[in-house]
Amino acid sequence: MSHQVALTHEFVEFIPSIRQDGVLYVSMKYATVVHNCCCGCGSKVVTPLSPTDWKMIYDGGSISLDPSIGNWSLPCKSHYWITQGRVHFARQWSRGEIEAGRAQDLLAKQGYFSETAPHVDSRQISGVKEPTGRRAKGGFLRRLWKRLF
Ligand SMILES: [Zn+2]
Repeated sequence: MSHQVALTHEFVEFIPSIRQDGVLYVSMKYATVVHNCCCGCGSKVVTPLSPTDWKMIYDGGSISLDPSIGNWSLPCKSHYWITQGRVHFARQWSRGEIEAGRAQDLLAKQGYFSETAPHVDSRQISGVKEPTGRRAKGGFLRRLWKRLF
């Protein structure tokens, strides 16, 4: 187990089931970036790209993801930024902060998918997001959409 400090990237159509540590797998087709947790635990971390999830910056040589990645549902609870292919570890959040962040994220998604609710960008409020990799497995948005409409 060793912390990743530098990441490379690979543009793929499908995310491979066997992934190398230190590689960001980018699927533009599915608007998703997947990597093994940078703390070294190797857990799968899924960061969907969308207006209410992450945005990716590709400068031709390296990748940045915004906001930071808070792996609260992983045992390691690691929290880091990926900026220009470099990993910058941030402090872990308290349980209260995590709960508040989750609530804010849900509000932001509801706002985004609703005509009437105010559009809140949780990224601007908290500056951190929790990957849905283990918790919701990507069906979350579809279920939320169905519930709202
Ligand atoms: Zn980890």
